[in-house]
Amino acid sequence: MNFKAQRILVVDDSQAILLVMQAILAELGVEQVTCCESAQNALSLIEQQPNNFDAIFTDLNMPEMDGMELIRQLGKRDFKGGVVIISEMDHRIIDLASNLARQNHALLLGNIAKPIQLVEVERLLKKLCTLSCPHTEEGQPISEAELLHALSNSEITPFYQPKVNRATQQIESIEVLARIVSEQHGFTILPARFIDLAEDLELINLVTFQLFEKATAEYEALKDELPHPCKLAFNLSPVQLEDINCPDKLAMLLQLNHLTPSDIILEITEQKPLSSANQLETLNRLRMRGFDISLDDFGTGFTNLNQLKSLPFTEIKIDRSIITHIDTDYFSQVITKSLVDLAIKQGFKVVAEGIERIEELQYLERYKHDLLMQGFLISRPKAKNELIRWIHSWLRMTNFNS
Ligand code: C2E
Ligand code: CA
Ligand code: CA
Repeated sequence: MNFKAQRILVVDDSQAILLVMQAILAELGVEQVTCCESAQNALSLIEQQPNNFDAIFTDLNMPEMDGMELIRQLGKRDFKGGVVIISEMDHRIIDLASNLARQNHALLLGNIAKPIQLVEVERLLKKLCTLSCPHTEEGQPISEAELLHALSNSEITPFYQPKVNRATQQIESIEVLARIVSEQHGFTILPARFIDLAEDLELINLVTFQLFEKATAEYEALKDELPHPCKLAFNLSPVQLEDINCPDKLAMLLQLNHLTPSDIILEITEQKPLSSANQLETLNRLRMRGFDISLDDFGTGFTNLNQLKSLPFTEIKIDRSIITHIDTDYFSQVITKSLVDLAIKQGFKVVAEGIERIEELQYLERYKHDLLMQGFLISRPKAKNELIRWIHSWLRMTNFNS
């Protein structure tokens, strides 16, 4: 990963720390580093040029204005970059800082302890990259004509990725992910290239309905392979909640396939805030109709723990940016533990998304009774027939182990 273009501001009242950070960032190839000895100076720099920094590394203990106050002020000034705290932090402070950041719409990436290690800085820069440019490898958006062609030729196709319960080994639900599959041309297009476009052109309902129709029709075949109940999970864009008739439309499509809302989980991303009265009304109505509702990508948006208590979610999915390297990232460990503790009290499920490494899975084993697991390590998203083959081998493996 190349950090050359990242613009970093370091705030610490210790000259020695500023020098160490400069040396480490230079070693990692970061070319634009600015140092400040006080939070006030940092804030006035940001006021002058609000979009000039991709991330701020700040000390927590500084005379006059401390790191917590700086986070609050950054939120007020609508700072869009990431924030890293340079400090050894105990559990309570991390909880407090992350909640404060969420309330103030600041993107807290984590903490690094002193003495500062290069690998730790590198890890946080990587995290910044994944959060700020998540779609770079996936290519350019397709054109409006290509999207319309895909819709009218019924090329929107469900791929499936399981969420498994490590304790029982059961596949509790299967997430449906949209792809455009052209049989004729033999290519598959990922959602990063067409979901935003479909939202902008107000075609997103058509995408969802096509996917819903196909996946609910294939669901029977999937259920036949499984010895236990399993739900289907769909992704909804927050804009789709603006339509207060959305619950009725989805329920009607289900009826056609003899399914009920209790078979379905609807995943709604937290990247865009749910704020309008219509969205909240639709969310409540979906829940009242019996759909399960999941808050997707937790950790990338600004839902704080108090809101989690009042919104009708039945599941929270911890974003990949928190799960990646959770085995060594103390900050992510604390966030995950707080969420699992709250989930046990409030009775919602928690899913760890994007598990890629065995070390992450091993770390998460401590929560296996309270956490569902999803990620490439368990299964990549697959088309129906391939998923059925995966289910067979998963069942063979888990029966063998039990
Ligand atoms: P998402 O809902 O957060 O889905 C998870 C994404 O992460 C999927 O990408 C999945 O393939 C990928 N993923 C799963 N496990 C791993 C892992 O271990 N490592 C890595 N690196 N990636 C993993 P995909 O299928 O490209 O979907 C991207 C996003 O597009 C989804 O993120 C979702 O927000 C959106 N999307 C997909 N289908 C739909 C849809 O039908 N409607 C709407 N509105 N959005 C959709
Ligand atoms: Ca999802
Ligand atoms: Ca997600």
